[in-house]
Amino acid sequence: MQPVGFTPIPNRISRLAELAYNLWWTWHPEAQELFRRIDAPLWEEVYHNPVLFLQNVRQSSLDSAANDPEYLRAYHEILIAFGEYTVFDKTWFKQNYGDKLNQPIAYFSAEFGLHECLPIYSGGLGILSGDHTKAASDLGLPLIGVGFLYPQGYFRQEITATGDQEAIYQKVRFSEVPAQSAFTPQGKEVVISVGLPARGYLPERRVYAKVYHLNVGNVSLYLLDTDIHPNASEDRELSARLYGGDEEMRLAQEKILGLGGVRALQKLNITPAVFHMNEGHSAFLVFERMRHLINEGYSFQDAQEKVRKSTVFTTHTPVAAGHDAFPLDMMIRYFPNWHDFLGISRDELLNLGRQEQHWGPMFSMTVLALRLSGHHNGVSQLHGDLSRNMWRWLWPDEAVENVPITHITNGVHTETWLYPKMKAVFDEYMGKAWPYQMDNPAMWEMIDNVPDELLWKVINQGRGELIEFIRNKVRKRLARLHLGQHELEAINNLLDPNILTIGFARRFATYKRATLLFHDTERLKRIIHGNGERPVQFVFAGKAHPRDEPGKNFIREVYQRSQEWGLAGRLVMLENYDMNIAREMFAGVDVWQNTPRRPMEASGTSGQKAAINGKPNLSIFDGWWAEGYNGKNGWVIGDYTIDHHDEHSQNHADATSLYDLLEYEIVPAFYERDESGIPRRWIALVKETIRSCAPQFCTFRMVKEYTKKMYIPCM
Ligand SMILES: *Cc1c(COP(=O)(O)O)cnc(C)c1O
Repeated sequence: MQPVGFTPIPNRISRLAELAYNLWWTWHPEAQELFRRIDAPLWEEVYHNPVLFLQNVRQSSLDSAANDPEYLRAYHEILIAFGEYTVFDKTWFKQNYGDKLNQPIAYFSAEFGLHECLPIYSGGLGILSGDHTKAASDLGLPLIGVGFLYPQGYFRQEITATGDQEAIYQKVRFSEVPAQSAFTPQGKEVVISVGLPARGYLPERRVYAKVYHLNVGNVSLYLLDTDIHPNASEDRELSARLYGGDEEMRLAQEKILGLGGVRALQKLNITPAVFHMNEGHSAFLVFERMRHLINEGYSFQDAQEKVRKSTVFTTHTPVAAGHDAFPLDMMIRYFPNWHDFLGISRDELLNLGRQEQHWGPMFSMTVLALRLSGHHNGVSQLHGDLSRNMWRWLWPDEAVENVPITHITNGVHTETWLYPKMKAVFDEYMGKAWPYQMDNPAMWEMIDNVPDELLWKVINQGRGELIEFIRNKVRKRLARLHLGQHELEAINNLLDPNILTIGFARRFATYKRATLLFHDTERLKRIIHGNGERPVQFVFAGKAHPRDEPGKNFIREVYQRSQEWGLAGRLVMLENYDMNIAREMFAGVDVWQNTPRRPMEASGTSGQKAAINGKPNLSIFDGWWAEGYNGKNGWVIGDYTIDHHDEHSQNHADATSLYDLLEYEIVPAFYERDESGIPRRWIALVKETIRSCAPQFCTFRMVKEYTKKMYIPCM
């Protein structure tokens, strides 16, 4: 049976449909290749979405693939690999915890970054959830993801001729993405409902959410969608945009995610042994679980204890103001009878999340999550320390080092982020089974066996492809802006595939200081020019939150600098940073730059993605880099032991250090070549980057740590 709307697929290759509906293809480029080969322009047009591809592909293209022996060989090879993956019996989890396979772990997150064709992520948090889910599948964890399916997703970013960010919300049609309706064991579509209070002219009412199912390898991901018929149009908007609305909309969203998520699992007949709240957005799930237990006859105290024992909470935010919190009266409106449901007073209910702020008390999702979970962690060693300090008032009797918040440093899903040509090198020199061992430091010692010449060739190929990719993107943008022939011709000289390329891409939150590089533009211009012999170029990308004016100003500044004499042609600001652009950048830049204001970067993961591709980090000693840096695998910007009291002198010191490192260390190492033209010193740095970072900062290490430290104790 083929899904409705597909071009009829010839029998010989009919399992392409099955492949399309399992996001396994997102971390197997050879599977993506199976679609691309059929019609490469269409593959680009549908933005690498195999479902939309199979709905739009011409019959004749499918027929010729089905009659091409080369194609069929690749097709069979990949379907065998896919089949083996789905039935693999020797997973890490099964071998170590085989008796716990029937104890599901429900992983709740407000966003999941799985692929560019599913824009339901805004940045690092979402990507982390997606990477966590993929690794859980690889390792055989009985994990189930729960989140929202935003019909308008996160916005697409365009940059105008003057450098202004425009946010474009495009509707995702669920029939066109790799998601399908979820069904109960009885075969009914799963729809849940949650009560919401009166607001404006809307009366008190129930809001319904339809549940969608996505396959992420062997993991199921369930996403709630409120954009369905019985809801008023305002309520249909509730899940429309990720972080699009006001405080009231956010509270409604979080109520639906927490309560609705638990209700969805119940309808699906899934009884989790562990609930993992990735950030506080889903923390209301503890209310719903306590309500069930109290209905079963537990006392409030016992219900609370039971929930605590089976709940894991990960906090991601290093600044107090970044934590979600709601006014108490708003909480009362949204949970009017809940103290009765739980058999406690209204004050006791509010106290579960109460935090005194200098402007008065608020209901903090982090406080609720910390109080009602038995296992909590920050996302790097530094962030663990910071979190113990920030939340120590919740454990007034404990010394700060005994505050029970631990840390599990973030990692990245290696196969998702690895440049395919680099993967081919690993396959050749470390054996095709290396992905099963990717968290084993001893295995990565084999990186030394790779010939320098080969690594250098792959690095150059990646850079060349990135520059082609960028020129195409810029060409499209200029065509959209109706710019003339002169500008279009200039694109042929935009960036140079042979020169040192520095990348910077992430959300344009101001603490990440995207514009630090422009602190002294004259010095920057000299570095970029490099006496005409050792030039440097910079690639930037990133979105600002639509209501973050300072962040948008940073985008404008980077863009306008890219048009300035002395920088133009060597500096580019790409539009619409997403997972696709990210992958291209990690494949093509030489160095990854990161300039957060310490200690604001809880972990950061983009530098880890660069590192597994052999791209050393040039970063402030913050987040993961405070653990990753070993003196031989990149550079530390600034001296974090010096306390600068004002922002300006901090920026000045950090920018000076950034220029010094570029000028005196990075540029010389990159351009030093031996008689055969190979930069030996650079390649040593590349190898050291991979060797030291790949095993430590992958999601295999991370998910195993979550399993041992958090999940198993809950079971
Ligand atoms: C990895 C990634 C991020 C997170 O970047 P940080 O530098 O860790 O903040 C954000 N967006 C995309 C698309 C990513 O791939």
